[in-house]
Formats: sequence, C-alpha cells, structure tokens
Amino acid sequence: MSDCLFCRIVAGEIPADVVAENEAAIAFRDITPVAPKHSLVIPRAHHANLVEVAAAAPDDLVKMVQLAGEVAAVEGIAEEGYRLVANTGAAAHQTVFHAHLHVLGGRSMGWPPG
Ligand code: 5GP
Ligand code: ZN
Repeated sequence: MSDCLFCRIVAGEIPADVVAENEAAIAFRDITPVAPKHSLVIPRAHHANLVEVAAAAPDDLVKMVQLAGEVAAVEGIAEEGYRLVANTGAAAHQTVFHAHLHVLGGRSMGWPPG
C-alpha cells in the first residue's frame, strides 16, 4: 500500500534506524521513543494489525515475535525484561494501521498501562 507509512519504510522510501530484520519482518527504532529502548517490529507485508497477521500469515507472526526477542538482545534488555505492546484499534491508541509490535525497555514499566 503506497499510502501506508510503514509500507514505505519497508520499501526503503522513508529512512529508518533498523535494529534487526529477517525474511518476514523489520525492526527499527521508534521516532518518538517513550522508553530508553523503544523499537517497532513490523511485518514486511501489509496487515492492519497483529490479529490480521495471525489470520493471514501466522508464520509471519512467529517471525515477528522472534525478531522482537532479537531486538531485546541487541538492545541489552533481554535479561532485565521488556514489554511487547500491540495497540489494536483507535481506543487502544493505534495510530499506524500497519501491524506492529512495540518493544519497550530500559526502565521499569508501570502496571496497569495507561
Ligand atoms: P501506534 O500508536 O500505532 O501503536 O504506534 C505507532 C508508532 O509509530 C508510534 O510510536 C510513532 O512514534 C511511530 N512512528 C510514527 N511515524 C514514524 C516514522 O516515520 N518513523 C518511525 N521510526 N516511527 C514512527
Ligand atoms: Zn502497510
């Protein structure tokens, strides 16, 4: 989808600070980090949210989670812990409707989330 921001990052039309990648997904640092370590893991193929990835391409969902684990290792937060977040829908504050996992770490996380 040429009008999708994250599809344009996948296509290389918009630059991104890539942390790790595999055949199905790309991880790059969030442009507006809300934690000391904040990356996004996105599928190369366009799906609106994670549930749609699970329905259409379940293998890609597994590869996204594997890549999130690699990001945590690269960022040095695998041992202390980190949070994977998938805002889904407007009420959950999803703003980009190309599926993504936030990988958040480098500080203690509050619970319940806001
Ligand atoms: P959402 O609110 O949909 O869960 O998350 C979308 C995320 O994409 C936000 O955290 C936002 O900061 C990030 N974002 C939006 N535009 C860009 C961009 O052009 N580059 C990068 N690296 N991140 C972006
Ligand atoms: Zn897209």
